[in-house]
Amino acid sequence: MKSQRITVIPLGRVDPAPLAWLREDIPGIFRAGVEKSAAMPLSKRHFYPERDQYLADGVLSELPSPPDTTTELSLGITGVDLFSGRMDCVFGIACTGKALISTFRLRPELYGGAPNLKVYRWRVLTEAVHELGHALGLSHCEYPGCAMYFSNWIGDTDRKGPEFCYRCRRWLERVVGEDSPPAKK
Ligand SMILES: [Zn+2]
Ligand SMILES: [Zn+2]
Repeated sequence: MKSQRITVIPLGRVDPAPLAWLREDIPGIFRAGVEKSAAMPLSKRHFYPERDQYLADGVLSELPSPPDTTTELSLGITGVDLFSGRMDCVFGIACTGKALISTFRLRPELYGGAPNLKVYRWRVLTEAVHELGHALGLSHCEYPGCAMYFSNWIGDTDRKGPEFCYRCRRWLERVVGEDSPPAKK
């Protein structure tokens, strides 16, 4: 089995808590070593002042491409709000080998709720797993309980959670040789 390496790259100023959570939580889903790299600056080139958002595709293009995308992935994380194409806002975006998530719309406070680190952590992991799935080649899944289900709003993210369904998990095993994660203690 191939072993994966996932490098988490903060883009601009990022809340340190999600960085620590990702390093702890991703190995429960992917059999991967997770490293944190130095922060990269967020290029103002991708900022659209009239909407106070960054273009997700532009920010994604700034992330370094891993030399072997079957064993290495880059995961960018940013605190700014992202949009893409016709989508007014996105939780994240990905292309082969590269994934990007924004924490902006994952905090319960944004929706008028009380701060809740458990919910916030669940959302950060769920969106990271979804985009990493795309980075490995997975498409959207129609099963609402699968991490690869498309989140139209935050409620979809809360419901689906970070686990892959049986079919998506099998695809990962077959196509990229992603082994099942170690059994939970
Ligand atoms: Zn998606
Ligand atoms: Zn699935």
